[in-house]
Amino acid sequence: MTSRPPFASASVHPWHAFDGMRIVEAPDGTCLVAARCSCGQVIDVADAVFVRCPSHEGPGCARCAGSGEIVDHRALAWRAATDTELQALQQD
Ligand SMILES: [Zn+2]
Ligand SMILES: [Zn+2]
Repeated sequence: MTSRPPFASASVHPWHAFDGMRIVEAPDGTCLVAARCSCGQVIDVADAVFVRCPSHEGPGCARCAGSGEIVDHRALAWRAATDTELQALQQD
């Protein structure tokens, strides 16, 4: 996978491919979006901001995987993960 991050503020290692984003639950129960490099390192996190799926097609919706919500990428404020968050993110 060689696609570039769909946002400008999270910084991927320039010599590695961007590995996509995951929505994870932080230790305090909030939802985080984690941007990860193909080497497995978490690069940046943002507090997840959800909006209603703009083209929802029900439980089989391809855009939101049926959840009815998608991450609002424009509303995300990327920042470096804290040590606690990194530990939680690297448990799997
Ligand atoms: Zn990397
Ligand atoms: Zn949907």
